Amino acid sequence: MSLRVSEVCERLLSCCRTCPFVHRKPGSDGSDGPDGSVVIPNKHAQTETPGPRALPGLPAPPRARVYTALWDYSARTAEDLSFGAGDQLEVLDQSSPDWWFARALTGQFARREGYIPANYVAPLESLHAERWYFPDTKRMDAEKLLQAEGNQHGSFLIRECESQPGELSLSVLDLGVVKHYKIKRLDNGHYFVSRRREFTTLQELVNYYGTTEDGLCVRLTHPCRKAIAPQTHGLSYNTADQWEIPRSSICLLRRLGAGQFGEVYEGLWNSTTSVAVKTLRPGNMDSQDFLREAQIMKKLRHPKLIQLYAVCSVGEPIYIITELMTHGSLLEYLQKDKGEFVAMCDQVEMGAQVAAGMAYLELQNYIHRDLAARNVLVGENNICKVADFGLARVFKAEGDGDYELDDDDERVYEVKQGTKLPVKWTAPEALHENKFTIKSDVWSFGILLYEIVTFGQTPYPTLTNAQVMQRLRANYRMQCPANCPKRIYDIMMECWKDSPVDRPTFETLQWKLEEFYDVDINAYDDTRNY
Ligand code: AMP
Repeated sequence: MSLRVSEVCERLLSCCRTCPFVHRKPGSDGSDGPDGSVVIPNKHAQTETPGPRALPGLPAPPRARVYTALWDYSARTAEDLSFGAGDQLEVLDQSSPDWWFARALTGQFARREGYIPANYVAPLESLHAERWYFPDTKRMDAEKLLQAEGNQHGSFLIRECESQPGELSLSVLDLGVVKHYKIKRLDNGHYFVSRRREFTTLQELVNYYGTTEDGLCVRLTHPCRKAIAPQTHGLSYNTADQWEIPRSSICLLRRLGAGQFGEVYEGLWNSTTSVAVKTLRPGNMDSQDFLREAQIMKKLRHPKLIQLYAVCSVGEPIYIITELMTHGSLLEYLQKDKGEFVAMCDQVEMGAQVAAGMAYLELQNYIHRDLAARNVLVGENNICKVADFGLARVFKAEGDGDYELDDDDERVYEVKQGTKLPVKWTAPEALHENKFTIKSDVWSFGILLYEIVTFGQTPYPTLTNAQVMQRLRANYRMQCPANCPKRIYDIMMECWKDSPVDRPTFETLQWKLEEFYDVDINAYDDTRNY
């Protein structure tokens, strides 16, 4: 098979885009690096900073100075600049990767200056600045976005699916049903939906089909509403690097729940920004151990991981400040829903999101050690994020000793005799030989999938912890839960392979779950009878 040079370039580029082993700087998925280099986004990361991309071997294109705001942003500190979606901003200083200094050129805040989150803007007149451009959006996600409140007949978006780089599709809402059209490209770079008419740019294509249907099911009317603004990287320019914040800047508003570490509150930072505040029960962990771990946790940034914003570690209790998730833990969310709104396709997607967060940790050689539905949090639109990664490592189970790190291998932990473990989630080699690796996280992920498909049922419902430990020695595994598609159960069983090396990687788990969407959209519900 011979390939043209342009095809080779495109394949190389698409390989780089999707290859999980391409170096990524934590905390800047999809964004330009601080040195102006382009950071290849994670396959599953939301594109948060849509800067210009360089082809391999070529220097990065110059950065634009004028940007368009993609979302509204309300200043959180006196140094910040507020702006509205669509406002134009001149960026004056990009020396920090996540927060830029800018001047508003248009809008309510014109002529004011201050810091802006870099992932809220895109270069003026670039494709990323178009309100209808949704990069890294899968077909099913496009359908959900268009069917959400606020869209109307003819609402549309153009998406580039990262699993098929270069493949563009137009998704349109037609009387409540979403229809998809392939946008093809000719050798001369022109775009077309129907060969009858070609366009030199996507903007021209959109303008044309905004005036006439010309074969589409409906004329394009409004860009699909951009649902939720992305998380900023850190709370503000000032806290991005300096993460110890004064306790007085946090106001506790309401108790959200309590977990093994202590109570969790909804809080307000600096009287402006909603956050979650995890209070660590005094004596539960050594504060030096915790701070060392928190240094690592803060660097782990991915759209499917709860972001650690800051800590208050002077005095007790220690506060951990993280992003706030509207629906709380996945376990409670599923138990409340019981299948009323959450369908099998949502459950599969939830599993895929957790696998995506864990695939990132896997790449960073980081072990969660307590992966379970109680440690996954849910936001709007069923967005799931993995929480509490790393905390189990520094947590002292009450009166039962603590975990010790094996210094020879960062990825293996040993556990002192008598330490409390979540037995039903813990892999046999971790239970019996005290070995915790990313593969013991994979075992726990299989249990988490069980929790997801059973709407939060406790695993091994008829067995005590002691019985589970005993039965696992005899290779016992849970049976396929009622209403669980066989393909999902097969994935669980892969995760529960006796030998850790035989278990899949999180990267494989992620694509296997995501592939459910591509195979046959109706298949999930058809398999409910298994
Ligand atoms: P945990 O200590 O993590 O087990 O949290 C206890 C409870 O607090 C959870 O079950 C959630 O309902 C709630 N919670 C914890 N973290 C957050 C968060 N970041 N956003 C919203 N709710 C949270």
